[in-house]
Amino acid sequence: MKQRPFFVGIDVGGQSIKGGVVDDAGQPLSEIDLPTEAFGGNDHFLGRIDLAVERAIVAAGLPLSEISGIGVATPGTMDIQGGLILEPPNMRPLKNVPVREHVQQRFQLPTTFQNDANAAAYGEFWAGAGRGANSIVLFTLGTGIGCGIIVRDMIIEGEHSHGAEVGHIVVQMFDGRMCGCGQPGHLEAYASARSIVKRTKELLISSRESSLRSTPIGQLSGPSASPAEVEETLDARYAGLVFQAAATGDALAQEIVEDAAYALAVGAVNMMHTINPDRILYGGGMTAAGSPLLSRIQHHVHRLAFPVPAQKTQILYAELGTKAGFIGSAGCARRAYVQSIKAT
Ligand SMILES: [Zn+2]
Repeated sequence: MKQRPFFVGIDVGGQSIKGGVVDDAGQPLSEIDLPTEAFGGNDHFLGRIDLAVERAIVAAGLPLSEISGIGVATPGTMDIQGGLILEPPNMRPLKNVPVREHVQQRFQLPTTFQNDANAAAYGEFWAGAGRGANSIVLFTLGTGIGCGIIVRDMIIEGEHSHGAEVGHIVVQMFDGRMCGCGQPGHLEAYASARSIVKRTKELLISSRESSLRSTPIGQLSGPSASPAEVEETLDARYAGLVFQAAATGDALAQEIVEDAAYALAVGAVNMMHTINPDRILYGGGMTAAGSPLLSRIQHHVHRLAFPVPAQKTQILYAELGTKAGFIGSAGCARRAYVQSIKAT
């Protein structure tokens, strides 16, 4: 049963734009996906967002007049309050793109603009594994680690659009591994899919015994591997091989998964001792690791956190998968709509 009003949610990634029309209960009526084509520059990119909005509405079988608002989410760097994409490193050559104003004018509808990780967290809070909670933290475990924090329907954006960057909190003060952002010791350097593959490769090169030696990671960890091949082995998709090997008893794989779970637990406990949320959720491709990873995170959290939050905070996997971003973007548009009604 579709519930009015309806909202369009758009989730822009480096490679693809996902979107859909979402109803008042957080259920998608349509789902679309098209290449981002950031390489085409600012104007071309804005045209791609327009196309995504149009396709989402057409696929839902609704006229534009049935839509009450549009939400757009993009990767940083950005100015959330100003509605601007600044200079995202994975979306070159885009620079200072006035996304919110453009979409608002093009469709003549109230438009919200949000960081993609924050939008995914809002999606889970509204319609996913965070339903019914007052506050959540979502860690999205993919190539990097994205994070969003929602406290009593408020998205923690920060004063300079850099709130909730919990993938980049320091979990190792001395001799820390280098993070993708260029600083040492961050959570992402220990527990993202990419860092898990990178660490596996290092241990294989140091001649440790492992069943992973016969997998693509091992084959590309030999002395003859070219720099391009080595870069290829860092592909986050190979992290699944490490989780599989751990499940079959491979000691090296188990050590890496255990260290990642411990780092994630340290990140979770830091959040529990900062905002004391109802739930901490994990989403993203790495959740394919299933209950062995989640139960190790829970084990370390219970050991490291204050007794009351250790007992009461739920540590769960997210539910919406790759839809979390566009559902959450639509949720941001709905949130603004509800606030505007309250104000009148
Ligand atoms: Zn970092």
